[in-house]
Amino acid sequence: MSEHELVIRRASVVDGSGAPARVADVAVSAGVITAVDAHVDGRGHREIDAEGLTVTPGFVDIHTHYDGQATWDPVLAPSSIHGVTSVVMGNCGVGFAPAVPTPEQHDWLIGLLEGVEDIPGTALAEGLTWDWETFPDYLDALDRRRFALDVATQVAHAPLRVYVMGERGANPTELPDADELGAMAAHVRAGIEAGALGFTTSRTYVHRTRDGAPLGTRYSTVDELTALAGAMAETGRGVIQLISDAYQSPDAAYATAEMAMMRSLVEATGRPLSMTVQQPEPLPDRWREMVAWVDACVADGLPLRTQVASRPIGVLQGLTASVNPLVLCPSFQELARLPLAEQVAKLRDPDRRARIVAEHDARPVEGMLAELVGGFHKLFPMDDPVDYEPPASASIAARAAAAGRHPVEVVLDLLVERDGNQLLYMPLFNYARGNLDDVREMLLTPNALMGLSDAGAHCGAISDGSMTTTALALWARDRTAGPTLPLELMVHHITQRTAAHVGWHDRGVVAPGMLADLNVIDMAALAAHPPRIVRDLPAGGRRLMQRASGYVHTFKSGVETFAEGEHTGELPGRLVRGPRPAPRSPSAAGR
Ligand SMILES: [Zn+2]
Repeated sequence: MSEHELVIRRASVVDGSGAPARVADVAVSAGVITAVDAHVDGRGHREIDAEGLTVTPGFVDIHTHYDGQATWDPVLAPSSIHGVTSVVMGNCGVGFAPAVPTPEQHDWLIGLLEGVEDIPGTALAEGLTWDWETFPDYLDALDRRRFALDVATQVAHAPLRVYVMGERGANPTELPDADELGAMAAHVRAGIEAGALGFTTSRTYVHRTRDGAPLGTRYSTVDELTALAGAMAETGRGVIQLISDAYQSPDAAYATAEMAMMRSLVEATGRPLSMTVQQPEPLPDRWREMVAWVDACVADGLPLRTQVASRPIGVLQGLTASVNPLVLCPSFQELARLPLAEQVAKLRDPDRRARIVAEHDARPVEGMLAELVGGFHKLFPMDDPVDYEPPASASIAARAAAAGRHPVEVVLDLLVERDGNQLLYMPLFNYARGNLDDVREMLLTPNALMGLSDAGAHCGAISDGSMTTTALALWARDRTAGPTLPLELMVHHITQRTAAHVGWHDRGVVAPGMLADLNVIDMAALAAHPPRIVRDLPAGGRRLMQRASGYVHTFKSGVETFAEGEHTGELPGRLVRGPRPAPRSPSAAGR
């Protein structure tokens, strides 16, 4: 009889704690790591010779939006393809519970996620099972399901506001009265007691419903937020997550007021708070102010954290994506509904191309739209594997200048490649200086958490669920534009550090007693391939799917879920309710 269910031999173990890599054997039984030693005695029922390969904990992504998808899809790709074994949903104040059980309310919630997170409403309408009303009901619905990875969620402010306040809850100028605030607080508390990991809200102008309305949560007062997060604090657990425009508002006084609000929320509740920090091109140094402010708060004993990314937050453009530089040109618009092959054929016609170039020049627009359709200096073709730190010389603007052509002509040439499937990459945030030097600094700050993947959202424009792969491949191996970062730090960022923030002390480290959530990685082969639009959402809804190479095995609680990038069919993942304590007696666990 075998002494262990699984032994992974001679691997380079990067254990998630930040400690130096070491060659060791890792033994697993009953879903738990039982030994990590230079040599583990006894045979495993399954033995894997991992010489030359790297073993890490399964990755923990605390910023996803799989709230809808999780009710119909057990695999939760692309995260699960990219080594992630635990996800936290319900971020940025949006979600599907609580929900008054009427078609009108369900449709409003679908419009919320369709608008804020670019998840096709038709897919949500067909896919969502709606076998819940309250937040605890929603957790029970998730609890009935099986997944390739563990899922957990948080109480989101926007649906809660509408559930309690009705239509007024969707209006950001309406404040809850005392009864409404009390009712909302009671729902937050019930949600945390049922297993939510935290309370989340949105204060950004970017987030809008399908109809373009701002979210009801946008101007919530510190009193409202303190009452809600305070109800969570009464339970002694839970984190606060929010997105505010502090990182991007040109109004410095507004940004300062937002930071003061966040600080007072933590002072009043004592709960850990994390917020989005990324670098917009017009304000390339605001993030430094926010990092200094967070560090000062931490020095004062307040648990604040920045949520940062391992690469640019990039919008994908193409004929199959939600946007491309031609979308405002009438001679392109008239093709937009045609089958892709016909679009490609017509975009090869010289007369039409000339008209599109002229129309593009004749349409001045402002703001983010101008950036999206005209930011050729930061628009890059996506190669395979994807280079997430492309040099300025690879931009559409540089290619056009070198060839003496109009950038729109270069775009037209590229968009028809791969039968119209070629995607272009526009780093919207974190690329103000044309490289990732500032991101490197962000990743080195002591109070930074890796977040912002938004996995499960932005189905036609952003594919950052693969950021875990970039964290290792680009930072610990590929980077040439500047210094790299230690593999041990990058693994720590996406394992123990994120897990501990949400109170999970049973995962994120390769050590005896911990969950056997493990990746076996061929670091030489690790790569993220270009996303492709696939139409596999309910009702034929489209989403970006991104494959990876180099993940030889992924184990969730000791069960192999992915082998060489393919789902094994196993679904060992479950809803995780609440924080998880550290294993009490690691040496005895699983023996
Ligand atoms: Zn988000």
